[in-house]
Amino acid sequence: MITNTKRKVDTIDPEVKDTDVLVIGVGFSGVCAGIKLLEKGITNFRIYNKSKGIGGTWWDNTYPGAVCDVPSHLYCYSFEPNPNWSRIYPAQGEIKTYIEHCVTKYGLTAHIRHGEKIVKLMFDEIAGLWNVIFEDGNTVKARDVINGSGGLHVPSIPDFPGRETFKGAGMHTARWDHSVDMHGKRIAVIGAAASAIQVIPEMAKIGKEVFVFQRTPNYVAPRKDREYTAMEKIIFSKVPFLAKLYRWFIFMRMELLLFPVTKKNSPRGNKIGNLIKQYMRATVNDKNIHASLEPDYKLGCKRILISDEIQEINPNGILTNTGQLIEVDAIIYATGFDIEKHLRSVEVIGLNKKSLLETWAVNQEVYQGACIAGFPNFYLVTGPNTGVATTSVVFMIEQQVHFIMQLIKRAGREKLISVKQGAQDRYNDVIHSALKDTVWTSGSKSWYIREDGRISTLYPYNGRMFRKQSKNVNFNDFNIVHNNDGQVTK
Ligand code: NAP
Repeated sequence: MITNTKRKVDTIDPEVKDTDVLVIGVGFSGVCAGIKLLEKGITNFRIYNKSKGIGGTWWDNTYPGAVCDVPSHLYCYSFEPNPNWSRIYPAQGEIKTYIEHCVTKYGLTAHIRHGEKIVKLMFDEIAGLWNVIFEDGNTVKARDVINGSGGLHVPSIPDFPGRETFKGAGMHTARWDHSVDMHGKRIAVIGAAASAIQVIPEMAKIGKEVFVFQRTPNYVAPRKDREYTAMEKIIFSKVPFLAKLYRWFIFMRMELLLFPVTKKNSPRGNKIGNLIKQYMRATVNDKNIHASLEPDYKLGCKRILISDEIQEINPNGILTNTGQLIEVDAIIYATGFDIEKHLRSVEVIGLNKKSLLETWAVNQEVYQGACIAGFPNFYLVTGPNTGVATTSVVFMIEQQVHFIMQLIKRAGREKLISVKQGAQDRYNDVIHSALKDTVWTSGSKSWYIREDGRISTLYPYNGRMFRKQSKNVNFNDFNIVHNNDGQVTK
C-alpha cells in the first residue's frame, strides 16, 4: 500500500512495508537522501541496509589505519558542519560516529531497516511501482527507488593458486578480522594503493616483519595531518561563518590547485609529480629500492620490504616468481573491490523487462550520474561518471541528492519520470569526449578504467561544474507521464 497521507517520522508502522520512496544503503548517500526527503515533506520512506550498522564504507572498512584522505571539514555535509573534528584527516571511527549523529539528529532511525539485503528490483509497468525483492524472499513495493549503495563493496581477492591452502590468517582490508592479533607476526600485504598505504604503517608498528607485494608503484604525497587545537574547535563552534569559510577554502584549494592535474599533459601535473618523486626519494632511506618505488610510494620503515610478483600462495606463505618463499603468519589483501560483481548483486529489471545488466552490456551510461533511460523513478547516487578525485565525495553526493529530489518532487505520487534516451546519449557524448582530455586516458591502468580504455567511473570536470549542472533539472530531457497510461517509453 502506497499511502497518500503524510506520516510522522516516529509513527512508522513496522507492519506496513510498502513505501513511497525506498532508499538502498545507509552510508553518506542514503543518509543524505533520507534527510532531504524529510526536508521536502516526504515522510513515507524506508532506508534498507544490508549490513547491521550505519556508515556504509565506514562501517565496512575497519582495518587499522583506516582514514579518509579528504580533509574532515569537507568530508561532511555542508548543512551539518562538525566543529569538533579532531584532526585534518578523520579516522574511520570518527566518520562513522558523524554519520550516526546525522541519523539521530535528523530523525532517520525509524526509517532504517538493517540486515535486509535487496537482491532484485522489478518495475511493474501496470502498477507503475517497483517490486523490491529481498534475499529472504520478502517483497516491498515502492514508487521511487534511490540506490545509494556505492560501488566499492565486494572485496576483490585475486585468485592466487593455492590461496586456500595458507595455514595462517588471511583477510581483505574491507573485512578486517579483529580477532587476529598481528603483534609480533610476519605479515604480507598484497597491494600498494589507497587502502594498503594506510594499513602498512600500522602493521609495521606491531608486526615482526612486513612484506609489501607491490605490482604498480603509486604517487605518494605527504599528508600533513595534525590535530585541531582546542582553540580552533571553539572558533569553529562559536563562529560558524569561519568554519564555513574554512570549508570553502579547502574546497577551492582542491578545485584550483589539484583539479588541473587531471588534465592531460598538465604542466602543473608534471611539476607536482616531480616534486612528489623528490619527496619520496628524500623520505625513503634505502636507496636500493628507490627505482622499484618510482614514481611513487612512501616507506620510511626498515621492516618493510619489496618483493617480486606472486606466483602462488602455499600453506606457509607466498612463493614469488623468482622462487623465493616468503614465510608469513598473516596475509592482508589490500587488493581493492570488484565493481562488476557489486553491480550484479542486485538485479534491476526496468521497462519492457529489460535488465540493467543488458542495458549496460556495452557501456554503463547514465544521465547526470543519476538516471537511466528505461528505468523510471529509479535513481543512482554516485552512479557512473560521477567520480571527481579532487573533491569530497560527500560534496558530490549532496549535489546528486539535490538533483534527484527535484525529480521525485516533480513526479509526485501520480507520475513516472524517465530520462529520454536521446538526452542520455547527448550527455554521454559530452562526458566521454571531455574524458579524452584527461590524464586518465594516458595509458595507466586502474579499477576505474575498463580493459577497452573506456572510463565509466570518473567525471571529467570539477566539483563546481557538477554543482552547476545538478542545480536545476532540465525537465525537457525527461518523459513525465501519469503512472497508469503506459506512455513512459515514449
Ligand atoms: P585499489 O585502488 O583497487 O588497489 C588495489 C591494489 O591491489 C593495487 O595496488 C593493485 O595493484 C593491487 N593488486 C590487485 N590485484 C593484484 C594482483 N593480482 N597481484 C598483485 N597486486 C594486486 O584498492 P584500494 O586500495 O582498496 O582502494 C580502492 C578505492 O577505495 C580507492 O581508489 C579509493 O577510492 C577508496 N579508498 C579511499 C580511501 C580514502 O582515504 N578516502 C582509503 C582507502 C580506499 P595494481 O595497481 O598493479 O593494480
